[in-house]
Amino acid sequence: MHDVLPVDQPTWDVIREAATSLAAFYRFSRIQTPVMEHISVFQKSEGEGTDLMEKEMYSLKTKGGDLLALRPEGTPPVMRAYLQHSLSRLGQPQKLFYMEPMFRHDNPQLGRYRQFTQIGFEIIGGLNDPAYDAQVILIASHLLKDSKVKGASLRINSVGCRVCRPNYKKALSAYYKNHEKELCADCQNRLKDNPLRLLDCKREQCQPFKEKAPNFLDKLCAGCMGHLKEVLEYLDEMQQPYRLDNTLVRGLDYYSRTVFEFAVEGKGSEVGALAGGGRFDYLAETMGGKPAPAIGFAASFERIADALRLQETKISPKPVRRVFVAHAGSLAKRKAFKVLESLRLSGIPAAEAMSRESLKAQLKAADKEGAVVAVIIGQKEIYEETVIVRDLTNGLQETVPAPRMLEEIRKRLKASSG
Ligand code: AMP
Repeated sequence: MHDVLPVDQPTWDVIREAATSLAAFYRFSRIQTPVMEHISVFQKSEGEGTDLMEKEMYSLKTKGGDLLALRPEGTPPVMRAYLQHSLSRLGQPQKLFYMEPMFRHDNPQLGRYRQFTQIGFEIIGGLNDPAYDAQVILIASHLLKDSKVKGASLRINSVGCRVCRPNYKKALSAYYKNHEKELCADCQNRLKDNPLRLLDCKREQCQPFKEKAPNFLDKLCAGCMGHLKEVLEYLDEMQQPYRLDNTLVRGLDYYSRTVFEFAVEGKGSEVGALAGGGRFDYLAETMGGKPAPAIGFAASFERIADALRLQETKISPKPVRRVFVAHAGSLAKRKAFKVLESLRLSGIPAAEAMSRESLKAQLKAADKEGAVVAVIIGQKEIYEETVIVRDLTNGLQETVPAPRMLEEIRKRLKASSG
């Protein structure tokens, strides 16, 4: 787990702004769920034999004997909330958006943290419409571009439905059974528990088998094939490039039909997938609700920020034209304190270095802040009910009556912007 320091905030702000403005445009409503859920929320949805369930979940037993888990991902909690609060009644589909910390007991490495903040977009309910698959994919693409990630490419696949997936699983198991002895230990287990995950293996020794494995697309039923074709047509229409990748299965059991991931090539590729998602048409039923088709994706601030760092994209704080409030003497300090508050009430960005007593040191701080105007108050100004307004860009200053201070500041801020 890690700290997100002040120096990291400009990058986080850009990512947050990208996510929230996409949510606002596409009409996704924010949802917040607790960091902990009953473990069954994840057990029911993710399926046995997944790394998330078996190795990565932080779980605990409460004094009352409940088994809870820190959420490793957002989709099951969001679906739990959708069902529990009958959100379908508010209109269909429900478009939901979250930005929440997730927890996975993984090996910490570049792009992989034990606590990370996921941005998720989910569309739940209504029709199983390929247009929504395409919309969610485009939102993921926009999120990365608007966060200033360069060159993210899309891989897409279909993992079928209840009708065709069992056939594919059978064909895959039969194929891998012939190579069982040559597989890594993890894959030997996957062959028993979750054959689809065989295609996820990153180990060198298992790669040759992956290449010759049966292709999901050959086993898709007509419904799933038609769905995929339509999604791809929307993407073509929007000139969103993609690569069909039959090894993309995205481990979790709840996915059906469309699955996709975005990653960058070259610099930044070390972090892995920057965003990933898919359709989860059966999750509502699996969790005990009425059937509700759904599609979504998630990405994390951390992984996007790591990719930006590797791509050497520097994000600086947005420049703000500020007014610096300076004082000379202790009485003037009180007045300056009040002036700062009046600037806040007037919506004028300001700064101060109140703990510095010398005017020279304060003006040095103003320079460091990049302030464009200073308001200076000394003994004489208190007595005369005036303030000094100094243009920090050229050093020219003027004494103005206190009631005219705001007007004068606004004039100078405006002049400095032009
Ligand atoms: P997943 O739920 O594993 O498909 O992850 C979806 C997205 O969440 C990934 O594409 C990453 O952006 C992010 N993510 C997943 N695991 C981590 C992690 N351990 N640390 C940081 N980001 C992560």
